[in-house]
Amino acid sequence: MWSKFNSERESMAKIFCPHCHEPVAIRTSQQITNTTREIYTNCDNEKCLARPVFTLSHSHDTQPPISKIMEPAQIAINFLDSLPEDQKQKVFASYEFLKRSA
Ligand SMILES: [Zn+2]
Repeated sequence: MWSKFNSERESMAKIFCPHCHEPVAIRTSQQITNTTREIYTNCDNEKCLARPVFTLSHSHDTQPPISKIMEPAQIAINFLDSLPEDQKQKVFASYEFLKRSA
């Protein structure tokens, strides 16, 4: 279900000049916050030669990091822990019933 990025098959995204729309070269970058970076670029189009600066921020993930994935058993334990005591006892009682009938 979780896939690993394959750099041989998938190419990196390009950044385009906002003035002439040609690809720009990344010159340097500076960390602004934990999740935001300013990217300093050069446009090599001889008719443009702009030096655009871009802001790169983390927006969301299409796949969570492995460290954030909870095992189904842990999800169940967290759910049981969140229940009031009487509800928890009902779940345990029905589980005991299922164990006896198996
Ligand atoms: Zn340009």
